Formats: sequence, C-alpha cells, structure tokens
Amino acid sequence: MGLIYDALDEAGIDRAQITDVAITHRHEDHVSGLIAPDGSEAFAALERVWIGTGDTSVFTGRLEPVRERVVPVSEKVAINDWTTALPAPGHTPGHTVYEVRSGAGRLLVWGDTVHVPTLQFDRPNVAWEFDGDQSQARTARVALLEQLAQPQHFVAGAHLDSPGVARVTPSGDGYALEYLAPPIG
Ligand SMILES: [Zn+2]
Repeated sequence: MGLIYDALDEAGIDRAQITDVAITHRHEDHVSGLIAPDGSEAFAALERVWIGTGDTSVFTGRLEPVRERVVPVSEKVAINDWTTALPAPGHTPGHTVYEVRSGAGRLLVWGDTVHVPTLQFDRPNVAWEFDGDQSQARTARVALLEQLAQPQHFVAGAHLDSPGVARVTPSGDGYALEYLAPPIG
C-alpha cells in the first residue's frame, strides 16, 4: 500500500539488490508493491517472484511486467538455505507462508493467517468474510498456531499490530500474543 519502500529504507535494505520476492497471496495490499507508483519495477534486480500456484492469476495489468519471473509454489520448497515456502491455503487458494531460520530461531511470515489479532489468537476458530474458504483457513490457522507455540518460534504478520513481529504462547483454549517491542500507534 505504498509503505514497503520506506520500510526497506528504515531496515537498511537496498531494494535495488533484491533478487527474490516471496509473496504470501494475491490480495493487492500484499503484491502491489512489486510495481512502484510511477509504473516502474520496484526491484530492479528482480529474478524470481515466489507465489502459491492458486494465486498466479494476479499477474495481469499493472503487474504484467513481472509475470515471466513468477515461480509457482505448489508444495513445501526451499527458496534458499534459510527460507522455506509452505502452502497454507484458505485465505486465498494460493496462500503461502514462509519460514525464515537463523541462529536466533524460526520466524514464520504468515501473510493473512490472522486479520484480527485481538480476537483470533484467543479464538483461532473465528474466521471472517475475507477468507475465501473459511474452513480451510481455520484449519491452516490452528495448525500454524500450534507450531508457533514452541520456544524460539516467532511470527510476522501483515495485520498484526506494529511492529508486527511477536511470540505466540498457549493461553486458555487459545493463544496469547507477545510483541517483541511495544506496539506503536
Ligand atoms: Zn489478504
């Protein structure tokens, strides 16, 4: 939604050096940043765009210029030595999550697995209208939360509160979310 370029600057990452972009799903707030507002490609060195097979139809119109570099993900696959793509369909047919590993632990970049953190951690069975297949989305959410509630596991979500990176712990019948820094704004 226009914020990714400043966010990369803030993180000290030069987007001209980025060769691979991993997309969680086809919704425009997750994919539009591939093309800058002036119509140019946002990542000049882009070689591959990873996205779930069920979501590849999004690369038309404004996103057409990168279509030839799309790598469809239909099963668990290693993107590099520290990143694995894992299909987690439900929110969209091609919804995909990415596990990033380092010496500090495992970070799951999970796209739109949760939209309403104040509700869906406590009650993971609650789905909402933007989940294309609510039953499938629920199954994916429950499985990922169970996996996340282990030591040294972290989650990064697009619709979590800022800063968007947190730890998940079991709480009652659901889970609690512990942000790594105080939420901003
Ligand atoms: Zn979405």
